[in-house]
Amino acid sequence: MAEDKCGIMGCDKSAIRSYAREACERAGLDVKDEEARRVHLCREHNKQYKKSTRTERKLETLGR
Ligand SMILES: [Zn+2]
Repeated sequence: MAEDKCGIMGCDKSAIRSYAREACERAGLDVKDEEARRVHLCREHNKQYKKSTRTERKLETLGR
């Protein structure tokens, strides 16, 4: 069985959740697959997603 991997650029950890791609992009995440409906997120990106949906403002310099 294929394991879901995180769908964010430069990340290939195991995913724990999935969200709509649009929501992820709005949260400032770099989604690998531009055509995907849903994006799987690993634990770290899930955390980042939640954080950024709360404080949408200054996210630009969060990642590297
Ligand atoms: Zn990730």
